Order: sequence, then C-alpha cells, then structure tokens
Amino acid sequence: MSPTHEVLNQPPPLAGYDLYEADPVLGEAVHREGAGWAAERLRALGTLAGGAAAIAWGEAADANPPVLRTHDRYGRRVDEVEFHPAWHRLLATAVANGLHAAPWRDPGPGAQVARAAGFYLWTQVEAGHGCPVSMTYAAVPALRAAAPELAEVWEPKLTALTYQPELAPVAAKAGALCGMAMTEKQGGSDVRASTTSARPAGSDGLWLLTGHKWFCSAPMSDAFLVLAQAPAGLSCFLVPRVLPDGTRNRFHLQRLKDKLGNRANASAEVELEEAAGWLVGEPGRGLTAILEMVNHTRLDCVVGSAALMRQAVAQAAHHAAHRSAFGRRLAEQPLMANVLADLAVESEAATLLAMRVAGAFDRAAGDPGEAALRRLATAVAKYWVCKRAPAVAAEALECLGGNGYVEESGMPRLYREAPLNSIWEGAGNINSLDVLRVLGRQPESLAALLDELAPARSAEPRLDRAATALERELTAVPDPVGLQAGARRLVERLAVLLQGALLVRHGHPAVADAFCASRVAGDRGAAFGTLPPGLDPAAIVARATPKIG
Ligand SMILES: Cc1cc2nc3c(=O)[nH]c(=O)nc-3n(C[C@H](O)[C@H](O)[C@H](O)COP(=O)(O)OP(=O)(O)OC[C@H]3O[C@@H](n4cnc5c(N)ncnc54)[C@H](O)[C@@H]3O)c2cc1C
Repeated sequence: MSPTHEVLNQPPPLAGYDLYEADPVLGEAVHREGAGWAAERLRALGTLAGGAAAIAWGEAADANPPVLRTHDRYGRRVDEVEFHPAWHRLLATAVANGLHAAPWRDPGPGAQVARAAGFYLWTQVEAGHGCPVSMTYAAVPALRAAAPELAEVWEPKLTALTYQPELAPVAAKAGALCGMAMTEKQGGSDVRASTTSARPAGSDGLWLLTGHKWFCSAPMSDAFLVLAQAPAGLSCFLVPRVLPDGTRNRFHLQRLKDKLGNRANASAEVELEEAAGWLVGEPGRGLTAILEMVNHTRLDCVVGSAALMRQAVAQAAHHAAHRSAFGRRLAEQPLMANVLADLAVESEAATLLAMRVAGAFDRAAGDPGEAALRRLATAVAKYWVCKRAPAVAAEALECLGGNGYVEESGMPRLYREAPLNSIWEGAGNINSLDVLRVLGRQPESLAALLDELAPARSAEPRLDRAATALERELTAVPDPVGLQAGARRLVERLAVLLQGALLVRHGHPAVADAFCASRVAGDRGAAFGTLPPGLDPAAIVARATPKIG
C-alpha cells in the first residue's frame, strides 16, 4: 500500500499461464497441420514461457546486452562475447526443447509444425535468442544438401539437445550452434557484390578466406556458413571458430552493432584474415547452397513475427479486460473492442498462415503440390506477416495507454523488435521480387496456391471475387518479373487471399467474416480499429484474451 493512496485499476501481470492453452488459434493449427502428438510438450513449454522465471530471463537478457571482448589483458586477441546468464538460460531451454533441430532428429509427420509451434511459444519470451536457434535449425538442411561429408561431422553436434557455449574443436563439443555471414558493407541484398575472397590452400579441402562481413549475428556460434568469391565465383564455406587442432580461426570480431531492438542478441562486424573454411557445395554455387539455409530462416521470420503479434495482442487484450475507463472495462468500450478485434484478426491470420507454411515444409518432400506451395507461400508470408508486425506492435502498445510506453510493460521491447524480421533474410522488396521470380519461373507454384484457395472460394463470395480479379490480372501479364514496381501490391493481395482462405476454412467464423469484410473486400480504414459495422468484435476479442489464474 502506498502511503498516500491505494493502487487501483491496474491489471494483474500477464504471468503464470500456459501460452499454448491460452492460444486456441495455435492449438487448432497444430492439430490440423499434423502435430497433435506434440500437444503435451507444447503445453509444458507454454507453461514455462508464461511463468514468472522465464519472463524475468527475457527482461534481463534484453536489459543486459552482450559485451564484446576483443583482447585479453595481455593484448592477445580473444574475440569473445559475454552474455548475461539469462541469455544462456533462454538458449539452453530452446536447445533442450529441440527448437534448433527437432525435425532433423525426429523426422516424421508434423515434425516441422511441432518445432514451429514451439519456436512460436518460446520466442514470445524473448526474440533475440531465437536468431541462433533459427540459424542452427536452417544450417542442417543446407549442409545435408550441399556437403554431406561436413554434415556427417557437424550434424550430430548441431542437433544435440545440449547447449555448450564454451568454444572447442567440433569433435570435443557436446552441442554446437551455427550462424551465417553473407552481408558486407557494400551490399547485403546484392550478395554477388561480395568482396571477400577465398583461395584453396593445400589438398585437404582447406580454403583461406580474406575480407569482412558487416552483419554477423550470434558471433559466438561454433561455425558459420560464409559466402566468398572463389576463382569459380561466389561460393559457400563452413568457417568454424575453432580449428580441429584447437587453435582459434582468424575470424575476428571488430565491433558489435548498437541495434534498435534484438538487443539481447549480438550482431558483429567481422574481419576474416585468411580464416580457414571448407567448401559447402560446388565452387561458384554458393548462392544455391546458402539459399537452402535462407528458406528455412525465412520460415522462422514468419513464425517469429506471428508470435510477436500474438504476444502484443495478448498483452493488449489482457490489459483492456482488466482496466476500466469511463465506467466500463476498456474491452467493453465499443471503439476499443473494434481496435482489439482488428488486431486479433491480423494476429489470427498471421498464425494460421505461419503454421500452414510450416505444414508445407513437413509435406514438401513427398508431395510436389506442397513443395510448389512452400516455394511461393514462404516468400509471400515472409513479406506480409513480417510487414504487419510493426503496425500491430505499435497499436497494441497504445491499448495500454501510457503504461505501454514504459519499458516495464514489455511493449517497447516488442515494438523495437518488430521491424527486424522484415529486414533480414531478404528485406521486403527483395522478398516481393522473389515472388515475381517464382511466378515467372515456377507456374506450378501459383497453381498450388490457387488450389489452396479453391475450397474457400466456393464458400465465400468476397474471396472468390478478389481471387478472380487477381487471376485475371495475372493471366494478362506475359512475364510477372517485369511487374517490379507493382510487386508489393501483388504480394500483399496474394497473402491476403491465402490468409482469407485459411480463415474461411479453419478460423473462427467471426474472425473469418471480419477478415473478409475488412481485408478481402477492403471495407476498412488505414489504421486498426476501423472494422466496418455488422461484425462480432466481442467474440473475436474473447478468443484472443488469455485466461489467467
Ligand atoms: C540486426 C541484424 C542482424 C543481421 N544479422 C545478419 C547475419 O547474421 N548474417 C548476415 O549475412 N546478414 C545479417 N544481417 C543483414 C541483413 O540480412 C541485411 O541488412 C539485409 O539483407 C539487407 O541488406 P543491406 O543492409 O545491405 O541493404 P541493401 O541491400 O542496401 O538494401 C537497402 C534497401 O533497398 C532495397 N532493395 C535492394 N535491392 C533492391 C531492388 N533491386 N529493388 C528494390 N529495392 C531493393 C532493400 O529491400 C532494402 O529495403 C543482419 C541485419 C540486421 C539488421
């Protein structure tokens, strides 16, 4: 009790609950996409994620960013990054739960969906440590596809459930993490402009890399997939931090970035000074090799952004369910109900799409239609779901009023994190242009997407009209690659149709109706809270509000 007054009308903390149980959209998608067998595990992880201890780890890891130590007291290079203990706890939990590797350890129906759902739950605690988790998850298929002999050595360590931060030669590690280094000062999207060079050194497959990387996240990882120019052209290399004989590789950390968000994670500038590396794939085929990794990290950008939106909306709905103004709970004020419902619709659509894409990752190997859908839907979803996250984070923050602007609420952390997934692994324009490329070169992908829309089109005329209009426009274009200036508009429409179709088939009827009215038919304003009349915002908000206690 404060000496002058009683504290009134403040909501209880959103803690002590199971994030999985509180998220029917996720639970339904997990079952639908073939991972119902993972429900118990997801409940356990959801309970951990909603517990006070994990929430405190997330806060501490963000408030105590990593520190770079380039040299020891004697002036020798050490290139180490020191992290707060909370970072290690977050990462150890992610690794113990197989969020970095489960589908490679235990492949089978629903394995990708189960992992994606686990990542979705756990990343809501703190997003920064998701970066090494995703990159390690994504490195394994790239190594398998392009360098089976390296995979034989590294995969058992990269997929182990043991988190071992101490650097050591790979043979001595109980578990290892992998990052990627493509971006250079003069170009990130245009990786072919890379100036880092690689030359063969001896007959045992060793190469020496010299140059720099401008962004290299999770620089304390055990190895990196690195792009460099070999005599045959841009090539991909596995560059370990520690060489098999125990000496440190010449992979020097120059600086850590002072970032807008994602502050718990380190992102370094790196100098490679004849750093030892081993080829991943053919010389000159580096892009093909690393794109296998990028495809998987793009999935995590989608899942991570959907998770961020879910956490932001959960916080907003929880606050409005407990806070009153002008004689009523905020959630019961008609205009606030419109804002919350509009946010919840966006979040539900993002979660459905993320899990559908994860399901396509599961089924792609045995089903050409799913493989074709995966190719297009990953790029479409990466563009759109990541683009919506900052807008959702900003509006959800405002639902908490002034409290939302204060660090302790956790909303500023979500807000600062929100733009990142749209930048890395192909910024918005790059993903949109990639969609044009897929449409131009792989017409079977568009056919797969249209097949996905078909059952919902016959059930929902608004969706059918929008899909017919888009189909007509696309058939009138001889080569979609020429559509560059209109790429975002096209990708947005594809994403909205896909989300609408998923909601019509699988979502809550009130959410599907609101989505089709506002997003598909376009009856809404530019801001959230502009859903048209005649919908059922109360049902939508109730579904999005976590039940605690
Ligand atoms: C926190 C953080 C961590 C990162 N970690 C890593 C990492 O671990 N490893 C790594 O390799 N990289 C990493 N990156 C780099 C990231 O992948 C790049 O920033 C990104 O690929 C964009 O490259 P760029 O910054 O050079 O921008 P540019 O390539 O210069 O692009 C600038 C803008 O121009 C647009 N653009 C580019 N080409 C076109 C075109 N043809 N038409 C229209 N628009 C275009 C882009 O969409 C973008 O909006 C990280 C970045 C951040 C912010």
